[in-house]
Amino acid sequence: MVLLNARIVTLEASQPQVEALAVGGNRIAAIGTTAAIRRYVGERTQVIDLNGRLVIPGFIEGHAHFTGVGLSKLNLDLTKAKTWDEIVRMVEGAAKNARPGEWIYGRGWHQEKWTVKPSPAVEGFPTHDSLSQVSPHNPVLLTHASGHATFANAKAMELSGITRDTPNPSGGDFLKDASGNPTGLFRETASRLIRTGAGEPGRTAEEEAARAQRLLELASREAVSKGVTSFQDAGSSFDDVDLMKRMIDEGRIDVRLWVMLRVSNEAFAANLEKYRTIDYADGFLTVRAIKRSIDGALGSRGAWLLESYSDKQDDIGRNTTSVEEIRETAKLAMQHGYQLCVHAIGDRANRETLNIFEQAFKANPARRDLRWRVEHAQHLHTADIPRFGQLGVIASMQGVHCTSDAPYVVARLGEKRAREGAYVWQKLMKSGAVVTNGTDAPVEDMNPIAGYYATVTRKTDDGSVFYGDQRMSRMEALRSYTINGAYAAFQENSLGSIKVGKYADLVALSKDILTIPEDEIRSAEIVYTIVGGKVRYKR
Ligand SMILES: [Zn+2]
Repeated sequence: MVLLNARIVTLEASQPQVEALAVGGNRIAAIGTTAAIRRYVGERTQVIDLNGRLVIPGFIEGHAHFTGVGLSKLNLDLTKAKTWDEIVRMVEGAAKNARPGEWIYGRGWHQEKWTVKPSPAVEGFPTHDSLSQVSPHNPVLLTHASGHATFANAKAMELSGITRDTPNPSGGDFLKDASGNPTGLFRETASRLIRTGAGEPGRTAEEEAARAQRLLELASREAVSKGVTSFQDAGSSFDDVDLMKRMIDEGRIDVRLWVMLRVSNEAFAANLEKYRTIDYADGFLTVRAIKRSIDGALGSRGAWLLESYSDKQDDIGRNTTSVEEIRETAKLAMQHGYQLCVHAIGDRANRETLNIFEQAFKANPARRDLRWRVEHAQHLHTADIPRFGQLGVIASMQGVHCTSDAPYVVARLGEKRAREGAYVWQKLMKSGAVVTNGTDAPVEDMNPIAGYYATVTRKTDDGSVFYGDQRMSRMEALRSYTINGAYAAFQENSLGSIKVGKYADLVALSKDILTIPEDEIRSAEIVYTIVGGKVRYKR
């Protein structure tokens, strides 16, 4: 394969920009001018003329959940629905394909986005009759874009035992029409009244296996359609890894997988030698990391803080896995050459994690270049920021979390903590830390263009900028999404930049996101995704 007439940004200092490249097998064979690369064209060469388009190293999704992405694809995506009727038609289609009694899930509807008001309506929300008509035998549950409300049909309410006499739970309510019957809308804690999965017939072992494979295929397709050529999976079981490996053998996975195991210390100790996998199948599977979570998330006040939340006195969040237990994981990881990746969001969570890492490093002075990672690293005390660089700890962050969380960060933390320590990419990079990028999909859409935009602008939906001094430059953001991700996985010698001998993992874009005006970045599209010298997605 050759790519001609492109603007290829290589991220290699010796030759930062070229026009063309040739691929031999799954690796880059040559780079140079279009004229020079034309000489590689033979009878069977696939020639792609890019008309001056930007080509960059493939995006490396630094932290997301592969099976979770697949699962989210099985649900109806209601985010683009313009009317309630459209949603009803989507559910009708799903009901036709569903097994009897199977639950139908959807997510992302928002009544403010509808161009036509539903009728009949109660408080502006539709009633369940239309949904119940198109899906009489399949329970339906549709979650609001905010996650703070759900909509159910008659079957779902029936299976959950909900009637007009059911009392509202504390902290939530469900809407009733003029005659006192439930409309189908459940707000806040009332959503928990719906017993999801109730009455659903079990699957046979074969159906279960087919479904598991389908999830991985959907996730793979989603990744390459978004320009992601490597996917760093933030926590899978041994069974998940077995299935990934088998499907890679069968050529059914198009994206490279780098997997953190999420298993107990006991299971890890018993299996770590067996599961240690490096660059399997020409670099399509690597397993040599383990995941732990020391706290929760900021929005739900689960992030573990040094001092109380600003909007809730005497609440410092939650420590979800004990320091003792993570210390034990650190010992095992150190002994057996695994990377330790700890989810830490609050400043206390980050400090405790850095303490665990530092202690492990000091106890093993001969072991260097370990590249242990803090996943998220969102809210840091100023005293801890330089420790990332000093200890060589990777800050595995998500640009898009910064802008989607921004509306409530100051409420939770107060202005001082937010300004000094929230998503401090520049401060971390100046400390010498490697900062990677990603989306935590399916929490956020796995779209690196949106992540890149958030990283270079820190601009929220209302146009305000969240502490702009911590923005990355466009080249810094590109590096965070490519070569830095490779480094964080010990793969910088084979991935993350465009260089002769490296794997041919490339993305061509419809617009030059390195130079176009800021407001146009989000409209850029992926034109080609190439992994291992093979076109895996084409617009
Ligand atoms: Zn995650």
